[in-house]
Amino acid sequence: MKPRDRLRIAMQKSGRLTEPALELLNRCGLTFRQSRDKLFCFGEGEPVDLLLVRDDDIPGLIAQGVCDLGIVGRNVLNEYRLTGGLAGPALAEWRPLGFGRCRLSVAVPQELDYRDASQLQGQRIATSYPGLLGEWLRERGVDASVVTLAGSVEIAPRLGTADAICDLVQSGGTLVANQLREADVLLESEAVLAGPQALPSDERGDMIELLLKRLDGVIQVRESRLLLLQTSRGALDAVIRLLPGGPQPTLLPVAGQPDQLMLQALCAGEVSWRQLEEIKKAGAREMFVLPVEKMLA
Ligand code: ATP
Ligand code: MG
Repeated sequence: MKPRDRLRIAMQKSGRLTEPALELLNRCGLTFRQSRDKLFCFGEGEPVDLLLVRDDDIPGLIAQGVCDLGIVGRNVLNEYRLTGGLAGPALAEWRPLGFGRCRLSVAVPQELDYRDASQLQGQRIATSYPGLLGEWLRERGVDASVVTLAGSVEIAPRLGTADAICDLVQSGGTLVANQLREADVLLESEAVLAGPQALPSDERGDMIELLLKRLDGVIQVRESRLLLLQTSRGALDAVIRLLPGGPQPTLLPVAGQPDQLMLQALCAGEVSWRQLEEIKKAGAREMFVLPVEKMLA
């Protein structure tokens, strides 16, 4: 393969991951001019181009060296590692990206009282993930017959071609509509940045490192929240104990109220209503949770 001096990232052409992946790359300062056939997008500022493909093709394109990186679901990457990619170079998950979250789960007919995997012994299980399902069954010593289907896996039990299924679940709505229920989770998935195990030793390796640094910044800011609240000095210890992780909070005096303090804390993830209610019960009031736009430590 000819050496390239521009980085090439594979991503899904049209599907659930397309919009969030493009938005993430934009936030990293990458913009693209879409070509007319929409397979290849030329990068405008940085020497980084996009290849828009079916998500299933992404791991193979990285393994063949056609692309340097890919944005793809962990489910697709791990299935490739267990099936298509056995003979080729190993692929690595460089970063979890925090979108496209779903679970790969076994689902059974609603009326079945599922307790553990041993009940799947001798059953027919339909899936598009024979590699991941096969490994999961093997690890549990369960001998079941895996029926591989490319799509519409959820209707197999109604058609009588399978007793259970193993498929991606997000809300569970599709399962309920097909009189199935989620019984066991094989894999928690989200979109990931995938690449070869080792960075290329040329300029592309340097570009990947730069991109990873920007990605880390973007992801950190995206997940950060600034929590502001007021509390009495007496309740301060109890309030601080309940704060969701992150560095030490900053305390500020409140004008005209010597007993009161204003507290400011950077939180590493979402702050839920439940957490806020607990903190309020401990003595806090006037609470605000704000998204963080940019951060420079
Ligand atoms: P393609 O044409 O690229 O092959 P696809 O139909 O395989 O598209 P999508 O349905 O767009 O792919 O899903 C892409 C990825 O989104 C999945 O591999 C998975 O990682 C993630 N995902 C998140 N939630 C769900 C869900 N409820 N069902 C399916 N995939 C989901
Ligand atoms: Mg696909």
